[in-house]
Amino acid sequence: MNLIRHVEDQCWDVLQQVSDPEIPVLSVIDLGMIRGVELNQQDEIVVRLTPTYSGCPATDLLKAEITQAFEANGLTPVKVIVDLSEAWTTDWMSESGKHKLQQYGIAPPQGQSHSCGTHVALTDGITCPQCLSNNSKLLSEFGSTACKALYQCRDCLETFDYFKCI
Ligand SMILES: [Zn+2]
Repeated sequence: MNLIRHVEDQCWDVLQQVSDPEIPVLSVIDLGMIRGVELNQQDEIVVRLTPTYSGCPATDLLKAEITQAFEANGLTPVKVIVDLSEAWTTDWMSESGKHKLQQYGIAPPQGQSHSCGTHVALTDGITCPQCLSNNSKLLSEFGSTACKALYQCRDCLETFDYFKCI
């Protein structure tokens, strides 16, 4: 029992080092993409992964990166299962993940997503990650990727990406 617990802890440590291909400062744990790590009856490590935006083509890359990271740490055999039973939402992002995102220059999702899966209406007043002013305006519903919107701060005049709530 303790041995299993120890292996699980190691697994979470390794996952903390696997970063999102699009936002390298965030780990898959920061994003809340890991739904569970367990040993199955064949003593295989099973990682359940719910990718972020299903339109993002990074899922296969991410599965390969997780597998490689586990193998590099001697944690084998490992299976990465894509779990689509619930759609990923920005609500699963950790507080430390949101903080890292802001330091990276992207405004983290603000507020809660709609459980029905529709996009939250975008409004002015998203906090600027540069100067933390709320005096910002929406420039475009789509920023550098479809997952983000483009804003401009009226105080420091910087434009910035906002990670939309979904
Ligand atoms: Zn600003």
